[in-house]
Amino acid sequence: MAVVGAGLGGLAAAARLAALGHAVTVLEQAPQVGGKLGWYARDGHGFDTGPSLVTLPQLYRDLFAATGGPLEDAVDLVRLDPAVAYRFADGTPLSVPGGATAIPGALDAALGAGAGASWAALMARAAAMWRVTEQPFLRSPLAGGATLARLARSGSDVATVAPWRTLRGLGTAYLPDPRLRTLLDRYATYSGSDPRRAPAVLATVPYVEQRFGSWYVRGGLRRLGEAVAVRAVERGAVVRTGTPVERVLVEGGRVAGVRLADGEVLRADVVVSGADAATLYADLLPASRPTRRVRRDLTRSTPSLSGFVLLLALRGRTPGLAHHTVLFPDDYDAEFDAVFGVGRHRGAPQPVADPTVYVSAPDDPATRPDDDSESWFVLVNAPRHDPAGGVDWNAPGLADRYAQQVLDVLARRGLDVRDRVRWCVVRTPADLERDTRSVGGSIYGTSSNGARAAFLRPANASPVPGLFLVGGSSHPGGGLPLVALSAEIVAGLVGPG
Ligand SMILES: Cc1cc2nc3c(=O)[nH]c(=O)nc-3n(C[C@H](O)[C@H](O)[C@H](O)COP(=O)(O)OP(=O)(O)OC[C@H]3O[C@@H](n4cnc5c(N)ncnc54)[C@H](O)[C@@H]3O)c2cc1C
Repeated sequence: MAVVGAGLGGLAAAARLAALGHAVTVLEQAPQVGGKLGWYARDGHGFDTGPSLVTLPQLYRDLFAATGGPLEDAVDLVRLDPAVAYRFADGTPLSVPGGATAIPGALDAALGAGAGASWAALMARAAAMWRVTEQPFLRSPLAGGATLARLARSGSDVATVAPWRTLRGLGTAYLPDPRLRTLLDRYATYSGSDPRRAPAVLATVPYVEQRFGSWYVRGGLRRLGEAVAVRAVERGAVVRTGTPVERVLVEGGRVAGVRLADGEVLRADVVVSGADAATLYADLLPASRPTRRVRRDLTRSTPSLSGFVLLLALRGRTPGLAHHTVLFPDDYDAEFDAVFGVGRHRGAPQPVADPTVYVSAPDDPATRPDDDSESWFVLVNAPRHDPAGGVDWNAPGLADRYAQQVLDVLARRGLDVRDRVRWCVVRTPADLERDTRSVGGSIYGTSSNGARAAFLRPANASPVPGLFLVGGSSHPGGGLPLVALSAEIVAGLVGPG
């Protein structure tokens, strides 16, 4: 069996399938495993270059338990408290506690009486949404009309999920305080989407984050990817890095193996692709009738947003700095307009002038050369790399100019580190595309923009018998927890070896 790509999706599928008795070979084009779960180190500073937040750790516990031993033996998970320190445009600080029960009180204290109750009411609705969707949608293969039927088995379930409603609409109904609506809007970006078009059911994202906690992996989140790779190898999988797959071979209407860039052919009756689904269908697979519908759905979907990242090696320490900090702008809608090229930026996506800035600064000796230094991962939402119709992130000077702009925004919002920068590495959507082969550097494959988006995502079982899709650009979606779920679904579809 061949697995294309050693991102978390491919690795988790490889570990599960090897544990089920299959002879698995993982083929990764990059020199190292992990995909978007990347790591950058220099001069004693170390940075996760992709994910910085682990949610739903139970899904990794399931993965490790199913492949030979507890998660806690493989990585050191730390629950964060506070989970996030927010600062709103009016200057209000809000430190969200790491445990759900403490949150309403913290909201009342920061935003005024009643804020906690309105958030709690929203979270109660989100809990109901989670109960209705977890099993029939997230944990099951996508099966077109059958999936809808499973979801719609009762009218009250449909009313709970309110598929016609947007996340923004839900926030407007439940949250009188505009700052809380901003907070809710941000969760649309966890799937790379626009809260004005993403479905209300994304309220389950803050629900699971607050209910099951925000977590860090000591030594960096990349250790999670490395641990899954070790687990796959322990179960007998072979992992080949620096090995790009050029073609998925189809013979007699079913999958027959893969051809590598150097011409080597690996025959296999099952191929699991963890590569970006859009690339798989556009470049790796031969065009054929059964795949036409998927290609059409992919072209109809909006790609998810990308990210512009600064890795800041800093002298000195910032007193009172939380692990995660989010600094909101005045006009959040302007950000989504710019990123997706809609509204006032219709047809012309562009870097966000006054973006929300996210800082992840783990207080972890493994990330810094000494105790008088910090390593910051700074992320702002960005349009994907699209030289033909949008932003060309390789345009001379753009990345450096925009990096300076982000540092200036940080300074205006109270975190001025401009005279503490030892060095700064800039990673644009074009870098992300080059390193992980995700189309335009989209972080989560297609976005959840639009009520039907979740059903337009490529299914885990492709129309080509023997070819399966795993990872963030296929069902059930992006982000580490859903990627782990997609591997579980694929292992269930393939079955024992
Ligand atoms: C900046 C950033 C921040 C993020 N923050 C978070 C976060 O805080 N929490 C969270 O849960 N998620 C976060 N995510 C999302 C998360 O990283 C992804 O959803 C997840 O890592 C995707 O895993 P994957 O295996 O599906 O894809 P990838 O990690 O992209 O893996 C695909 C792999 O396939 C390889 N490949 C592609 N084509 C070929 C080919 N032809 N031949 C061989 N190999 C190939 C690629 O090199 C890559 O290694 C973030 C992502 C980014 C980029």
